[in-house]
Amino acid sequence: MDDAVKCAAPACYQRRHPEKTLWYRTVQAYFETWLALSKAQFDESPPTHVVQAFRRYLECGILAFGFARARCKNCGHDFLVAFSCKGRGICPSCNTRRMVETAAHLVDHVFPPLPVRQWVLSEPKRLRYFLQRNAALQGAVLRIFLRAVEHCLRKHSPGCGANASLGAVAFIQRFGSSLNEHVHFHCCIIEGLFDSTTNTDGTVAFHPSSGLDDAAFRQVQAITRRRILRLFVRRGLIDKADGDEMAAQKHDGGFSLDASIRIEADDRPGLERLLRYCARPPFSLQNLHQLDEGHLVYHNPKPHPGTPSDLVMTPLLMIGKIAALIPPPKWHLHRYFGVLAPNSHLRAAVTAKAPEAVITATSPQVLDSEDQPHRSLSHYLWSQLLARIYEVLPLICPICHAQMRIIAFITDASTIQKILGHIGEPTQPPTTSPARGPPLWEAAITTKEAHNEPHYDLAAQPAPEFEFDQRISW
Ligand SMILES: [Zn+2]
Ligand SMILES: [Zn+2]
Repeated sequence: MDDAVKCAAPACYQRRHPEKTLWYRTVQAYFETWLALSKAQFDESPPTHVVQAFRRYLECGILAFGFARARCKNCGHDFLVAFSCKGRGICPSCNTRRMVETAAHLVDHVFPPLPVRQWVLSEPKRLRYFLQRNAALQGAVLRIFLRAVEHCLRKHSPGCGANASLGAVAFIQRFGSSLNEHVHFHCCIIEGLFDSTTNTDGTVAFHPSSGLDDAAFRQVQAITRRRILRLFVRRGLIDKADGDEMAAQKHDGGFSLDASIRIEADDRPGLERLLRYCARPPFSLQNLHQLDEGHLVYHNPKPHPGTPSDLVMTPLLMIGKIAALIPPPKWHLHRYFGVLAPNSHLRAAVTAKAPEAVITATSPQVLDSEDQPHRSLSHYLWSQLLARIYEVLPLICPICHAQMRIIAFITDASTIQKILGHIGEPTQPPTTSPARGPPLWEAAITTKEAHNEPHYDLAAQPAPEFEFDQRISW
């Protein structure tokens, strides 16, 4: 779209309504029952971070829990922006924001304009069990894998020295496409190696790779497999006989490596798409639907051969599946390696080549306004992220097109109620259903207690602003 047309008719920001989504209503109706059931079954509560994540999700985007007020200083038009939970794993809105923010930061401030290849490694089920529960083990496996890739790149990058390093960002995905626990790694690796020292002018020499083919990938896979099995044996996680047997199994013994996606140096939109794919959340609301009898169906757009594409389950089972995928606090979901590692003396020289962001959907005054607080480069304003996804800038006044600014954060309960009452919004948050007792657990699973709840026609809702199609097409 032409910039002039865009500025003349900016799209109007519409607040999201998480309480109307099927996932919110599911958590609202069944979370307390799931919690009571889990305590009864396992004699202990689920981990604190899991319980907190669900409770915060129920407050995310709900005005009755507090909000920011945005106002146009020109014409006085204003709107409210509810607080978000910033959760990892449960909240579709915050998940999507995290994905977009991560990809935008990496494209604009980390990856230099060089070819990047995605290397996806997954391990046999027997090893995944340990990886799911041990962050240090994940790091050790990643280092083995990336050393093998670096070795491969060294052989295929003419002119590089013996100490040349790769540059990589590794994403640790804890889930498979059917909401199953499945730790695996998506590594975006610059296709070539960097010299270990900078030139006199502070730049660093790069040696591009050429000729990476299936034989090279197979070799990386074989080396990685052998070394990872040795690591598991050395740490006593599997015994030596089992390690030997797994090393001798046919069909790669459950190890899989895919390195078929390569993004060219000048394809920055393609790189951003790839990075979003790597940083994507475990589930997409677009794929969740409700069956009449109160069961949910989750559509897996990319089922493995021989497995159903639709996963039918009770709300309690769905909550349990998502709960299992929530990363523990402080577990990294992506990590930097080689010259991109935080402690690398080459990081500054390499990342200095990354192009700056160009936000095409905004009018220029938005970015250089004195109203914008100073932020680090890695922190994107919420409004700019919205602009980046949907080409809608919420902080542009829909009436007079001037810039709006956040003028207040309202957190006091009585003030919240007064303002919401004044503008006709619900002053009370949606109520969460209490846990049903044991005889009712089954009923909770199979009936819609929510018969009294307002019926929302999902198809009639406006497109939620944070949902993003997880499927990636190349
Ligand atoms: Zn949230
Ligand atoms: Zn205005």
